[in-house]
Amino acid sequence: MKPTPAERADASAQTVRTRPCPRCGADTLTARTPDRVAAVDVRTDPTPVDPAAIPPGRLAWCLVQHEFVGDRIRWRDHWHAAHCTHPVLIDHACPPRPVQETLL
Ligand SMILES: [Zn+2]
Ligand SMILES: [Zn+2]
Repeated sequence: MKPTPAERADASAQTVRTRPCPRCGADTLTARTPDRVAAVDVRTDPTPVDPAAIPPGRLAWCLVQHEFVGDRIRWRDHWHAAHCTHPVLIDHACPPRPVQETLL
C-alpha cells in the first residue's frame, strides 16, 4: 500500500537531520519521535555519549538506525535502557553565554 500524504509528512518530520541550534548556532540533530501517542520534537547534541555518563538533568534518546527508512530518535526509557545497544544522544543544552571580557 502506498503511504498517504500525511504518513509521508510524518516520515519526513521523523527523519533525523543536522541543523544549527537557533539560539547558539551549534550543530544539533533534530527529529520528531516516531511515537503515535506523544510525538515530540527533539533537539540533541550530534555526538553520542557514554550511556553510563549521562549528565544529570539531561534527557537521553536512542539513535535508531534503520536500513531503509533512515535514522530515527526514540525515547529511551528505563526498560529499554537495560538492554539498549543504540548510540545514545542527549538533549541539546546551549552553552552558557561567554562572559564578556573586560578590556583594561
Ligand atoms: Zn536504545
Ligand atoms: Zn543551542
